[in-house]
Amino acid sequence: MVRGGRVIDPASGLDDTRDVLIQDGRVAQIAPSLPVPAGARVIDAEGLLVTPGLIDPHVHLREPGAAHKETIESGSKAAAAGGFTTVCCMPNTTPALDSPEMLDAIRVRASEHASCRVFPVAAATRGRKGEALSEIELCARAGAVAFSDDGDVIASAGMMSRVLQAIEPTGLAFMQHCQEPTLTRGASMNAGEVSTRLGLIGWPSVAEEIIIERDIRLNSSIGARYHVQHLSSGGSVEIVRRARAGGQPVTAEASPHHLLLTDEACEGFNTLAKMNPPLRTDADIQAIRQGVADGVITILATDHAPHSADEKALPFEDAPFGIIGLETALPLYAEALVASGAIDWPRLIALLTIEPARLCNLDARGLGQLREGGPADLTLIDPDLAWTIGADDLRGMSTNTPFLGRQVRGRAVTTIVAGSVTHTTGSRAPVTA
Ligand SMILES: [Zn+2]
Repeated sequence: MVRGGRVIDPASGLDDTRDVLIQDGRVAQIAPSLPVPAGARVIDAEGLLVTPGLIDPHVHLREPGAAHKETIESGSKAAAAGGFTTVCCMPNTTPALDSPEMLDAIRVRASEHASCRVFPVAAATRGRKGEALSEIELCARAGAVAFSDDGDVIASAGMMSRVLQAIEPTGLAFMQHCQEPTLTRGASMNAGEVSTRLGLIGWPSVAEEIIIERDIRLNSSIGARYHVQHLSSGGSVEIVRRARAGGQPVTAEASPHHLLLTDEACEGFNTLAKMNPPLRTDADIQAIRQGVADGVITILATDHAPHSADEKALPFEDAPFGIIGLETALPLYAEALVASGAIDWPRLIALLTIEPARLCNLDARGLGQLREGGPADLTLIDPDLAWTIGADDLRGMSTNTPFLGRQVRGRAVTTIVAGSVTHTTGSRAPVTA
């Protein structure tokens, strides 16, 4: 039983002090002052937020093909440490997740080794090459929770149109990595003053915006569910805002780094600040925060992208894009969005639970919400716990993050998946009554 916490369940609107009784992996009862059953394990949650288990709809677990960066086992441990009970893994593995057989292999690996629920996002085209459709319907039946060629955009408008048409009947969302390739050739950071000073080829915001514009126009007569991944530019926020106001089935996600860091973090050729899409400007950060505050951006995702220290030690232009995010996301979102006054804790929890659950049709499985009879996936958060992000706090295989050493506030102190504790930290270790 989880006793005396502030239970926040955005799906039902509950935000009050409650006890949560867990039995057989399910939520048995949510009520004030429940009696403790004999022999029950009791977690004292006084002063803590008790929320549905957090869901990250955009992670890279690197399995199969890059086990030196991350595996399903290590990545899911990182997820648990960050308060996540469910992650959706991207298909840019080797080989790509583009067939029912590959999706099944992920399901089996996850059932044997994962510390959280893992759902695969299937590639929309074979081998993520953008040339031929993958087996969309069979992949949907085999458990894909969305489609994406993430890591790459679907560059051809003709292929994009066919992808949207093929996905529409499945009811699943297509997630686009928005990067017009001819505008970003050889680019490794935001186009601006800093890229000029460093002598690096710049990556303009329009490369992202033009793809979103194109896709929304293509989709206007198709009506598939279209999702913008890791949006980085203020211009993109405006395009999504207009499309949603016009009733189009468009959603968008923001990532912690695009809410907190600018391209100045690339100074000194710091490869830990090399991201795709790139870190941009203060004005972009303000626009993305405003987009979250206004309800234009409804999804938060880490884009957890592990790389080895050797790879990130390469010269800036040769180093891979991306940073890890699962262990550090929650306090960074709290800083960027709650401490800044953009949104409150209940809305932040919605963006991390029921909203991504809906994006990936996981709400139909009872995820992203707390209700009696539903799965007992819970995250206990100390919103006031101040800590410094250190290498010891990282549970995955890679440590590529520019946030090491940052002082933050707020932490997932206990993570529970199907009634089992998958992570606990600090002074809030569970005690048995
Ligand atoms: Zn991407």
